[in-house]
Amino acid sequence: MDTAITYLDHAASAPMRPEAVEAMMPYLTGFYANPSGSHRFSRRTRQAIDESRDVVADVVGCRPNEVVFTGCGTESDNMAIAGAVSRRGGVAICPAAEHHAVLHVVEHLGGVVVGVDDFGSVHLEALAQALDEHPDVAVVSVMAVNNEVGTITDIAAVSRIVRRHAPNALLHTDAVQAACWLDLREVTPHVDLLSLSAHKFGGPKGVGVLVERGGPRIDPLIIGGGQERERRSGTQNTAGIVATAVALRLTDADRDAEALRLADLRDGLVKGLQSRLDGVIETVPVERKVVGSAHVCILGVESEALLYLLDEADVCASAASACASGAMEPSHVLAAMGVDRPIALGALRLTLGYTTTEADIDRAIEVIVPAVERLRR
Ligand code: PLP
Repeated sequence: MDTAITYLDHAASAPMRPEAVEAMMPYLTGFYANPSGSHRFSRRTRQAIDESRDVVADVVGCRPNEVVFTGCGTESDNMAIAGAVSRRGGVAICPAAEHHAVLHVVEHLGGVVVGVDDFGSVHLEALAQALDEHPDVAVVSVMAVNNEVGTITDIAAVSRIVRRHAPNALLHTDAVQAACWLDLREVTPHVDLLSLSAHKFGGPKGVGVLVERGGPRIDPLIIGGGQERERRSGTQNTAGIVATAVALRLTDADRDAEALRLADLRDGLVKGLQSRLDGVIETVPVERKVVGSAHVCILGVESEALLYLLDEADVCASAASACASGAMEPSHVLAAMGVDRPIALGALRLTLGYTTTEADIDRAIEVIVPAVERLRR
């Protein structure tokens, strides 16, 4: 990446860890054999996948044979939900602030969407009620960390509700945004299915993980050559899987130190904006969200216009509002949280990660403040 770029869009995609890039190279150039083959060359690539599976299992807190490598986080989410409904019949349930990789699948399958609180976490009473009303529920899917506003959901509390009200349902968590910030070993025991995406924690794009605990309990989505013990057919992306394991191991090792370092930077960013501009609302309080997230709503500006000015100044950020039928629509997450439309239209998502420095924060403030002033004029 151009070093002049101020990259505050880690939740969209993190830069690859150099160690992960280095680890994948031999599998792109030398060990390119198909891991399903029978010759020595193939066995070598299969061994690399198995060793990577061991690393992922260790960091996630499951058994190696419970780790299924997929093609992305979206595929893992789809497989968890569609695979559960296909195997078991019945409905899928999820909260309204899920990523579209979950929400659209649940809606597509005619499932049930429940409300969230002011911070975007599932309403536990609403969930319990929906479970009572749908005795045939096949799977409940609740994200561990929200991709837009960074809210952490207490998956143990969700699990207690699901086990009490729907003991036969599977519980899936989309932990795609959690790997950098939460010790997954404390999340996994509460769920049956868990999704990850490598490019969110410094691995490559195009590798996902679905943890399927306690043996095959859902139908596969992709059928063919029977790879991944019949759970996900298709020749594995050996280089990508090796790099994923390296990135996940490093993320796990650095997590606590990074949380301390980035909390200061994140707070400095939000306070820096608030001290120089009126009307900068922190969407979710710090105690409810991950340290990498600085989501704010800036009154009197529209995100799209602000992002345009930031882009011109080489500051990468995002907002989730989308232009539908010519009119700006607030994101489905902010709408579900009940954020008023004029406030939601000024949403700005700044997300930090392992490459973020104090200089990035200073520069972001230097660019955002005059951009907002200009738009308000
Ligand atoms: N779930 C969440 C919470 C995400 O943030 C994302 C990516 O934005 C996904 C799922 C989809 O992951 P992928 O980009 O690997 O398909």
